Amino acid sequence: MIKLSELYSGKAKTVFKTDDPEKLIMEFRDSLTAFDGKKKSEAPKKGYYNAQIAAKLLTLLEDKGIKTHYDSMMSDTEMIVDAVEIIKIEVIVRNIAAGSLVKKYPFKTGQKINPPILVFDYKSDEHGDPMINDDIALALGLATRPELLEIRKLALLINSILVDYLDAKNILLPDFKLEFGRRKGTIVLADEISCDTCRFWDKATGESLDKDVFRFDKGDLVAAYREVARRIVPEIFELT
Ligand code: UDP
Repeated sequence: MIKLSELYSGKAKTVFKTDDPEKLIMEFRDSLTAFDGKKKSEAPKKGYYNAQIAAKLLTLLEDKGIKTHYDSMMSDTEMIVDAVEIIKIEVIVRNIAAGSLVKKYPFKTGQKINPPILVFDYKSDEHGDPMINDDIALALGLATRPELLEIRKLALLINSILVDYLDAKNILLPDFKLEFGRRKGTIVLADEISCDTCRFWDKATGESLDKDVFRFDKGDLVAAYREVARRIVPEIFELT
């Protein structure tokens, strides 16, 4: 596969066209931002750890029968994915109260949420990713009613697979963000699942092993991401 021109560059990933119109390359970079891009930094190997974690989790979901855009890894930080039409909804799944949920509502950090909460945000930097409901999504033409139902079903299924998998690695999953796309008439999981898009807490200590380390200056971000990689993709450490 040949990497062609850049299609889009986001806060932490760059997407490239390839010589196959059905495939794109998603490159995980070492840059990171928080608070709507107001806080920025670079962290060596962060792109590598996130790429390896995302590849492992997307493969796990594929193995469990969830359709994803994942194809294969082209290099340590470059993922080949199916080209999909991204649905402009950020789907947030919450199992334990943290972050904006605690800021906006009378939940206590660490409070268990069962059944999980699903929140839809409109994926638009221009509008500040506001929370939406089904009526707004429909009125904006972001998705159809059957698509919204399918997205809900898939998000909850993905959540239960990830919670069980991560629990066995002594990682709690308080919340995370998913994005879906359309491909050949079906809804597929797109984007990434990584330390940038999930809250990961150490099961024994409650310590953050995710982007909150950067957001709230909680210590060594790369060490936290490396620890998640050690638990989820130990094979990459055996090689070196
Ligand atoms: N999240 C994300 N991208 C976003 C917004 C949220 O990946 O644009 C993830 C975030 O990492 C966390 C979850 O979604 O795991 C819930 O985030 P929350 O709404 O609490 O946002 P916060 O204000 O804490 O970033």
